[in-house]
Amino acid sequence: MVPEGIEKNYFFQHTECDYFPCHEGIPKERFNCMLCYCPLYTLGEDCGGNYTYTSKGAKNCKACNIPHNGDSGVRLVRSRFADLRKLAAKKQPS
Ligand code: SF4
Repeated sequence: MVPEGIEKNYFFQHTECDYFPCHEGIPKERFNCMLCYCPLYTLGEDCGGNYTYTSKGAKNCKACNIPHNGDSGVRLVRSRFADLRKLAAKKQPS
C-alpha cells in the first residue's frame, strides 16, 4: 500500500528483507526501500543528509532517514541531480 500523497512509482517496500526497517524513526507504513543505496553518497559532505564520519574517515549514513521517509529521498536526489551529472561527466583533457 502506497501512503497517501506519494506517487506509486516512487514507493517500494521490501518487508521480507532481513533488515526491514533498517533505519529507526520512520513510521513503518511510510518506510520506502526504493533508495536502499543512496545515490548521494558520492557527494560526500555535500549530500545534504544527516551523515557522520567514522574515525577512519568513512561516511556513515545510519542516522539519515531522508532516503527512506516517504518520497523525501526521491525529491532530494532530483534536486541534486545536476551535481551527480557533473561527477559523472567525461573528463576533458587539460
Ligand atoms: S543517506 Fe543521507 S547522509 Fe547518506 S548520502 Fe544519502 S542523503 Fe547523504
